[in-house]
Amino acid sequence: MRFTPSANLTHLKASETVAISNEAKRRKAAGEDVLDLGVGEPDFDTPKLVAEAGVAAIQAGKTRYPPNVGIPELRRAMAATLSSWSKGRPVDPERVMVSSGSKQSLFNACFTLFGPGDEVLIPSPAWVSYPQIVHLCRATPVMVPGDPEWGLKVSVADLEKFRTPATRGMILCSPCNPTGAVYTLAELRAITEWAGQHGIWLISDEIYRRISYGAGPAPSVFDLDDDVLDRTVVIAGASKAYAMTGWRIGAAYAPPEVVKAMAALQTHTTTGANHPAMWAAATAFSSAEVEADVVAMVSAFRRRRDYLVARFTAQLPGVEFVEPHGAFYLFFRVDGIAPDTGLTGTRFCERLMLEEGVALVPGGAFGDDRWVRLSYSVSDSELEAACDRIERFVAKLMAEHPASA
Ligand code: PMP
Ligand code: GLU
Repeated sequence: MRFTPSANLTHLKASETVAISNEAKRRKAAGEDVLDLGVGEPDFDTPKLVAEAGVAAIQAGKTRYPPNVGIPELRRAMAATLSSWSKGRPVDPERVMVSSGSKQSLFNACFTLFGPGDEVLIPSPAWVSYPQIVHLCRATPVMVPGDPEWGLKVSVADLEKFRTPATRGMILCSPCNPTGAVYTLAELRAITEWAGQHGIWLISDEIYRRISYGAGPAPSVFDLDDDVLDRTVVIAGASKAYAMTGWRIGAAYAPPEVVKAMAALQTHTTTGANHPAMWAAATAFSSAEVEADVVAMVSAFRRRRDYLVARFTAQLPGVEFVEPHGAFYLFFRVDGIAPDTGLTGTRFCERLMLEEGVALVPGGAFGDDRWVRLSYSVSDSELEAACDRIERFVAKLMAEHPASA
């Protein structure tokens, strides 16, 4: 029978970040010399103690259906960790709901809060999956361009320009994928106050909160007043800070009635997160030894960030980039490299892959194809080699168009 996609899939596009990662892996497996700075996942192995806890859970028979909202041990450990990241502010474990990766947490939150006729504001550039998830909920994503003079972040004034009577929510990501920008506490406060005034639900994606280069974890809605948390869903997870992308453990912190609705939804989709993986994550969120591993990983990311920023500043002086304060991405602008040639992020990435064997993600995947995302979750030596290749490629582009050099 001929396949006609249902109306649910009207806007569906497969994830470009996932596609680029698959393509880089395919080329590597075929023996090509490819440096993959496309994928957004830590290059570290899961901490040993966490892996052992996962194995022990399987051996102890934690292999049956799990509690739908997550095992209490993990919900408590996550709540305690989130509390410790915000000077001990109370975080109720009953409001923590565990899912199969924070991607599912985001889907649950959007599907629960938004539907046909609703508009959801998304500061842009934005992680690929936000607009897709909003479309899957039959709501309308409304992209709000970030200010280039302000690390591509949005202000209340920017958001206000796009607010209509149909605006029901917004999704904020800080530290931001793809830019690495981090909202200050004052900026977060202003945005949450504005959202509160207009009855707008905030989904605050804080999956990269721990990977932040200021003092301690990045500012969070958990650092704000209690009433903010009554109209916010906070997204957290094990993937990034604990190098656990493949375990698929994420969480949403939400008001009780939202947790109840998301839990009902999840009973019909995945039943609950992977049971032994939840035990592994409970160790990740509660062990001092694992915390020491996290500190080491974050300092490695910081070192690479500093290296990259120093190299771009010294060797590619004409190339604009967003000052990265968190996550592990450098977002740089390519349309000025060879002006008047119509160079896009997509073309830049295609040629860079073919001519230099470096995989990056075109900014078009995030809503602005004048830019390119580089993920520095690779070893120091790979990062150095990638910088050599990118610099050589940029020099070549300039030589091809001397007038623009
Ligand atoms: N939010 C952002 C901003 C991300 O970059 C990712 C990365 N995949 C996710 C959520 C989802 O992560 P996961 O499903 O692995 O928890
Ligand atoms: N979040 C990562 C990225 O942006 C992983 C891939 C994905 O899930 O999009 O590359």
